[in-house]
Amino acid sequence: MKLTFLGATQTVTGSKFLLETKDRRVLVDCGLFQGPKDLRLRNWEDPPVDPDSVDAIVLTHAHIDHTGYLPRFVAQGYKGPVYATPATVDLARILLPDAAHLQEEEARYRNKHHLSKHKPALPLYTLDDAMTAIELFRPVQYGEVFSLSRTFGFQLKPAGHILGSSFVIFNESGEAAAKTVLFTGDIGRYDQPIIFDPTQVDGADYLVLESTYGNRLHADRNGKTAKEQLRDVVTMTAQRGGTVLIPSFAIGRAQELLYILRELELENQIPVLPVYVDSPMAVNAVDIFRNHVEEHDLEMTQLERAGGSPLYTQRVHFARTVEESKAINDHRFPSIIISANGMATGGRILHHLIQRLPDERNSIVFVGFQAYGTRGAASFGRSAADPDFRNRLSRARESSRDRWFFSSRGLR
Ligand SMILES: [Zn+2]
Repeated sequence: MKLTFLGATQTVTGSKFLLETKDRRVLVDCGLFQGPKDLRLRNWEDPPVDPDSVDAIVLTHAHIDHTGYLPRFVAQGYKGPVYATPATVDLARILLPDAAHLQEEEARYRNKHHLSKHKPALPLYTLDDAMTAIELFRPVQYGEVFSLSRTFGFQLKPAGHILGSSFVIFNESGEAAAKTVLFTGDIGRYDQPIIFDPTQVDGADYLVLESTYGNRLHADRNGKTAKEQLRDVVTMTAQRGGTVLIPSFAIGRAQELLYILRELELENQIPVLPVYVDSPMAVNAVDIFRNHVEEHDLEMTQLERAGGSPLYTQRVHFARTVEESKAINDHRFPSIIISANGMATGGRILHHLIQRLPDERNSIVFVGFQAYGTRGAASFGRSAADPDFRNRLSRARESSRDRWFFSSRGLR
């Protein structure tokens, strides 16, 4: 077997690994490069491997840095199957069209404001490309032994990262002793809500694993767990009459937040506040999370059997339409707003930041990885009452669209 790293080396995005045997070429993940411009430009280069020469693609999970290059790869000629767990397939069905939509918006914006040296500026891929890619999906269950040839196949096992996330374990048998190669994709933590823990694996001949946090410990802050920190912020903010604003990844983190907030309410650790989930993708993902019962850990299963809705807080409101989103602005009593995206680089969260930042009673809670150069990274650890805070935020703005957005809406 031969392994080639085509992305996610010396950076965390753009995951793509080519695994070749004597008769098969398989791509593990087909991720988009995200973050600073020099990285994003790599998405525009020629495909790293001839799409026509690849027999199959296997996806570890639905996040765009593992799937978001797929429509481009398909537009460039890939026609083979794309294997993933049923939940990953469902999540990718909402993520890829959304990514295409953002690409099209970006091109439209650049054309309108003459911001591209290309005339006309084109999207990296279109909604049609995304829909064509989705046609190629083939769901594979956890534990199913799937053959790609007479001597070569793979199995998916829970990775505990997001719904549907999986390790991919390839196995090649033949004249020589059997060889296994294990790709972890992103690895989750133990004892997290909703989904299974990462699978304990007995062994593998070769192991390819993510190492984003490889040099760090997930230390609790001031000896407090994430749940306790969230409890403190919600309680303090509610006491001073403010709103807790949470930029969140729409898939995974938003649902975990709902789960934990519901627990805190139930345990009387926080007041029961209106919780607004302002992201159509997060709202759609809540349904996907609820439907994929095969992904639920024991605790989640027991809660559902008891007749509860583990992802619904007592006063949860889901905002899909723009009108529903705008209506949240009128609510000035203590509340919690969960909105995308998680690094505050775009999306509805920007409207809420503009609305809520000037009021120092409010809190902003960053709950996920903040990539270098994003607003989230620039504001990390800042207090909303800090006069320098909004300057910091505006310095982190990266694209010209953001500049326009802030100047025209008056974040001063
Ligand atoms: Zn991921």
